Amino acid sequence: VTDESVSVALVHHPILDRAGEIVTTAITNLDVHDMSRSARAYGCRHLFVVHPVGAQRQLCDRIRDHWVQGSGKRRIPDRAAALEIVRTVPSLEDVYTELGGRAATEVWATAAQTKGVPATSFADARGLLPASKHLLLVFGTGWGLPTSVLESADRLLAPIVSGRGDGWNHLSVRAACAIVLDRVLSR
Ligand code: SAM
Repeated sequence: VTDESVSVALVHHPILDRAGEIVTTAITNLDVHDMSRSARAYGCRHLFVVHPVGAQRQLCDRIRDHWVQGSGKRRIPDRAAALEIVRTVPSLEDVYTELGGRAATEVWATAAQTKGVPATSFADARGLLPASKHLLLVFGTGWGLPTSVLESADRLLAPIVSGRGDGWNHLSVRAACAIVLDRVLSR
């Protein structure tokens, strides 16, 4: 995996709600900032913010533009490098298209619970980094990615867990993204 052959996707639909129904979540400004900085710091090509609602994509584009070319850039130039890798798209299919098609993309999903879907440990995943395909790491919001997304991925990464027996591992998507990037990509 060379630099820029990895991207991150932050999905807002389809997403599970507390009741296990499929919903669409709102874009959180903090997610865009935090995850673009982590993605940039690990050499990712893009942070794809996936949202089917145009007004939400425009909100994200406005956040990006403020920091990439607006007054934000004048105030904190370093932030521009992070936000400039942000791309907003309506669906995961659009992400695959941007990356050269689903067949050219190795898709690894993440989840706090595997829901019975076979998962790959981080140790094994590090040995399975694609040599030529673009690696896409997919993260959810709300109460997580639906099983359909986990199953349509090439791999599901094992949940990040602590050594405590109580199994509590509900990380924010921001924290999960940073940990996954480090475990998968750190040299
Ligand atoms: N509103 C919440 C927040 O503050 O981010 C969103 C939670 S959402 C379920 C968190 C996403 O981060 C999951 O869809 C998954 O992609 C990832 N995630 C959370 N906890 C995780 C864990 N223990 N292991 C792996 N991924 C995790």
